[in-house]
Amino acid sequence: MSVVERQEWDVVVVGAGGAGLRAAIEARERGARTAVICKSLFGKAHTVMAEGGIAAAMANVNEHDNWQVHFRDTMRGGKFLNQWRMAELHAQEAPDRVWELETWGALFDRTKDGRISQRNFGGHEYPRLAHVGDRTGLELIRTLQQKIVSLQQEDMKETGDYESRLKVYQECTVTRVLKDGDRVSGVFCYERESGRFFVLEAPAVVIATGGIGKSFKVTSNSWEYTGDGHALALLAGAPLLNMEFVQFHPTGMVWPPSVKGILVTESVRGDGGVLRNSDGKRFMFDYIPDVFKEKYAQSEDEGDRWYEDPDNNRRPPELLPRDEVARAINAEVKAGRGSPHGGVFLDVSTRMPADVIRRRLPSMYHQFKELADVDITAEAMEVGPTCHYVMGGIAVDSDTAAARGVPGLFAAGEVAGGMHGSNRLGGNSLSDLLVFGRRAGLHAAEYAAGLGKHSEVDDIQVDTAAAEALRPFSAEGPEADAASGRPPENPYTLHQELQQTMNDLVGIIRREAEMEQALEKLAELRVRARRAGVEGHRQFNPGWHLALDLRNMLLVSECVARAALERTESRGGHTREDHPTMERTWRRINLLCQLTDPTGGLAATDPVRGQIDLVRETTEPIRPDLLALFEKEELVKYLAEEELYE
Ligand code: FAD
Repeated sequence: MSVVERQEWDVVVVGAGGAGLRAAIEARERGARTAVICKSLFGKAHTVMAEGGIAAAMANVNEHDNWQVHFRDTMRGGKFLNQWRMAELHAQEAPDRVWELETWGALFDRTKDGRISQRNFGGHEYPRLAHVGDRTGLELIRTLQQKIVSLQQEDMKETGDYESRLKVYQECTVTRVLKDGDRVSGVFCYERESGRFFVLEAPAVVIATGGIGKSFKVTSNSWEYTGDGHALALLAGAPLLNMEFVQFHPTGMVWPPSVKGILVTESVRGDGGVLRNSDGKRFMFDYIPDVFKEKYAQSEDEGDRWYEDPDNNRRPPELLPRDEVARAINAEVKAGRGSPHGGVFLDVSTRMPADVIRRRLPSMYHQFKELADVDITAEAMEVGPTCHYVMGGIAVDSDTAAARGVPGLFAAGEVAGGMHGSNRLGGNSLSDLLVFGRRAGLHAAEYAAGLGKHSEVDDIQVDTAAAEALRPFSAEGPEADAASGRPPENPYTLHQELQQTMNDLVGIIRREAEMEQALEKLAELRVRARRAGVEGHRQFNPGWHLALDLRNMLLVSECVARAALERTESRGGHTREDHPTMERTWRRINLLCQLTDPTGGLAATDPVRGQIDLVRETTEPIRPDLLALFEKEELVKYLAEEELYE
């Protein structure tokens, strides 16, 4: 039996992005001794990269906005597959979460009369995104961090120890959720710098680990997004919901190759930027789908007038939901009307004075100047789709954020499924993190307090987790391979092949034969990943860390490919060339991914066989008072016959 240090907490939050920090603050404020653990440096979470803003119907810029309109926009964006109760809570609670941030010290941009300014974004009927230039995520994280420090200072005064009730373990990675019977008992972790293993014991664990983008070659996501939380939940026995829905943001950089995929914020279009093809045509007018025809301008003049007079004009189609814009760009490039480096042109230079561009889009100005030597105040940017966000995620209860099937497990933020349906609207992630981060922290604390006694951590599980983590150094790793004469597999090569596979075969436009090919390739990669070997020792060894992350990326990629193959329609972030229309009957169907081997003992299963089972589940009918917020003619486009009848 290995000796692994253990520490006891009431609530452990895995992830220190917006969702994790908001959850931790809430849990600590509800009296739970709370630990936060994150794989990167504290303050460096992915949320920092968020640019455009936080969507909340505060009605500061247009008085007609309210939670009902926000709810409607969110449901339309998600093509009605959203877990509607989450969309309702989100729209109702987002304004409070933004105001709360302000009381904690966040400095938002202001309107002329001193209120929090709100900007336009795709799919939002009114200007709704509270922002700080194009660096909103940075301010959000800074504010939450500051709040954490202030709570720690309170604890210092009372207990003499800053970390007595709220502690952050940074640069530490969780590789397993531990269980006592069917309920959670803690997490198994390693410290990235030393390679030391440790266990955080807790009856309640909140997963807030963000997304999965690093399984794809072209992505806006950072190195942390290896689907760890999704995989941890699966391995603990919780299902993942609708994993086929991956968002390809329409505007990532396409040039130079070293920066391909880096995000170009939607604020560029929200503030007046337009998309043109190589003929100079504003092509988005040709791509307004029927379901949105009445809501978008039919001419450039009308679209342009909307920026000044939104009440009497319709918005330009550059501000359609992201899935529509991404598909349109893809089609233009495929038709040979793309830019020199395989994208299209996004132009603000002819739409706004240079000083306004530099003031409203400072990060974009610097990003293009420094990375591509392009001055966006004088020339157009070249942009194309990039893997950006995963709508699918851990299946949770809408009100409590409790993961299904595993008592004590909670999830919030990008890792949780349901809220965004088949496609997320821009700005709705930062508000989601705050609304459901708070709810997860609250309910995790209540759950922990309600338990008579804490659950036990099982030594065998700890030893198994340690052995699994060490495998790349020995067992089936390099030494065994030296004996068998086979070279060990290089984790970096495996990762590259995985990214290429997902990009080419399960990417923005999907076809049955290609997804079947992807599943075969994933099976091959799984077998080879068993022999992923690393050299050196446990002290800061990125090759080893990647070898461990591969398990997660392979599991999550299989979920995406299997669910995408199963859903024979096109909806939101899931586009099938062989099934190009949205089918009303599919609106009633959720796809749940579960582990084939429910014990989570991946070592025991045959890697050639798929690890994931798919289960179909009927979606919960939308509450009548929420349906009444829509016109019948609109509902007919989305809802199945029997739902309309009901
Ligand atoms: P994150 O902020 O990613 O945090 C995840 C945390 O989990 C990190 O601390 C990480 O270290 C930790 N972690 C991961 N795995 C492990 C593990 N195994 N063990 C321990 N810790 C782990 N959304 C908007 O609403 N508005 C925007 O303007 C916007 N702009 C964006 C711009 C860019 C460039 C990108 C990439 C995304 C943008 N998004 C935006 C989306 C939004 O930023 C993310 O969806 C959101 O920040 C996710 O937050 P999170 O708290 O769920 O996860």
